[in-house]
Amino acid sequence: MTEVPEKDELEQLRERLMVTPKLVWDQVDAAEREAILAYAERYKAFLDTAKTEREAVQEIERQARAAGFADLRANEPGDRCFYNYKGKVIALVVRGRRPLTDGIRMVAAHIDSPRLDLKQYPLYEDTDMVFLKTHYYGGIKKYQWLARPLAIHGVVLKADGSRVELRVGEDPRDPVFTVLDLLPHLARKTQMEKKVSEAFEGEKLNVLVGALPLGNKDTKERFKLYLLKFLEDTYGIREEDLVSAELEIVPAGPARDLGWDRSLVAAYGQDDRSCVYPALESILQIDQPEHTCMALFYDKEEVGSDGNTSAKSCLLEEIVELLLERAGEPPQARRRVLMASRAISGDVNGALDPDYPEVHEKRNAAKLGYGVCLTKFTGHGGKYTANDANAEYLAWLRKIFNEAGVVWQAAHLGKVDEGGGGTIAKYLAVHGIEIIDSGPPVLSMHSPFEVASKADLYMTFKAFRTFFTAPGQ
Ligand code: MN
Ligand code: MN
Repeated sequence: MTEVPEKDELEQLRERLMVTPKLVWDQVDAAEREAILAYAERYKAFLDTAKTEREAVQEIERQARAAGFADLRANEPGDRCFYNYKGKVIALVVRGRRPLTDGIRMVAAHIDSPRLDLKQYPLYEDTDMVFLKTHYYGGIKKYQWLARPLAIHGVVLKADGSRVELRVGEDPRDPVFTVLDLLPHLARKTQMEKKVSEAFEGEKLNVLVGALPLGNKDTKERFKLYLLKFLEDTYGIREEDLVSAELEIVPAGPARDLGWDRSLVAAYGQDDRSCVYPALESILQIDQPEHTCMALFYDKEEVGSDGNTSAKSCLLEEIVELLLERAGEPPQARRRVLMASRAISGDVNGALDPDYPEVHEKRNAAKLGYGVCLTKFTGHGGKYTANDANAEYLAWLRKIFNEAGVVWQAAHLGKVDEGGGGTIAKYLAVHGIEIIDSGPPVLSMHSPFEVASKADLYMTFKAFRTFFTAPGQ
């Protein structure tokens, strides 16, 4: 018969053997608490400046140049460089002391977010009002886009190659736009009695942009004509110019503190700027690291990473070849570099929502306030379309995060049969890179008003910063 241990011994045993979730606020001292709050201010400023992928690339390049990064494509010399491709995807590189064939430390995140894109002939008038036709981009719940202030961001390319940049609806003096919703009094059959997936149609996500006429009642399409005259006077554009435009409808207004205690951030686009910003801020701070460090900011993740600015494109291979060329090594070493590399796919996880516990498996769900998530695999069903990070790699990440005081949690998105999702991780994994998904838990994900904890946002930053420079192969 074995001896029954004393109570404090049992407590010690429990501490040694069991996983205890760690609330970030319990783990940090006063100084780190201040750092968490200060970080959130810088993060919110980035959210407001970089609402679209093009704006994100501009802002990332601006900050990189200010921190002494040189243009790799223009062959400007320097150990800190950036590569901007088509103004929609950008990479930042800091050359390390070790050879490239020892591998690169990469953090990759995406700068596109769900939104409404304009169609190519968007402008029309109906019932003496002027609207824009849209086609939604990424996974949205359509009803979330009705009856709320919206802004228009983007570019119009004229046939002569000149470009007009638009950003309307963010300045408090700007007008805003909206998608109309039906009054409840008349919505019974059209909306209330239908399934949500049928009650809101993509073709009805039309944006109201004006209601003033030009000329008199005999003038044809005089409300649309007024708007076109306004667009010509203001921007020098005509209707055909909208064919070669990328105008994005996004929620209007800045990122906000949420809650009386200001512990949370609520904003559009935290998927995935909550991972973009910490990757940016941490790589800008790195100086002469051991391994070469790279932050990749990809476009088109929300539509499956297709296209020449996505994570499926050959961009990464091109950058590695350029770096090899600079180092006087053959471009064929590219594969060896990538196979020796380690990466974090910076992306958010769905936080446990107390109103919908039925979709989560609470033992493995991401919990708000419990730190940056390590998501071993994504995908759906029997792990289909998943990147499944290697256990050896997770062991190393646990070690470096624990040593650096990064508060982290392992997290799995939803119940096994509930649904699922993917990230860019698998598109980098095919190169042989060790890669795992990691980022903060987010509530109301993919909505116009996503919610994250300042504590988790900061721990994501701390995790990325630690990862770039931690010792190890
Ligand atoms: Mn994402
Ligand atoms: Mn997403």
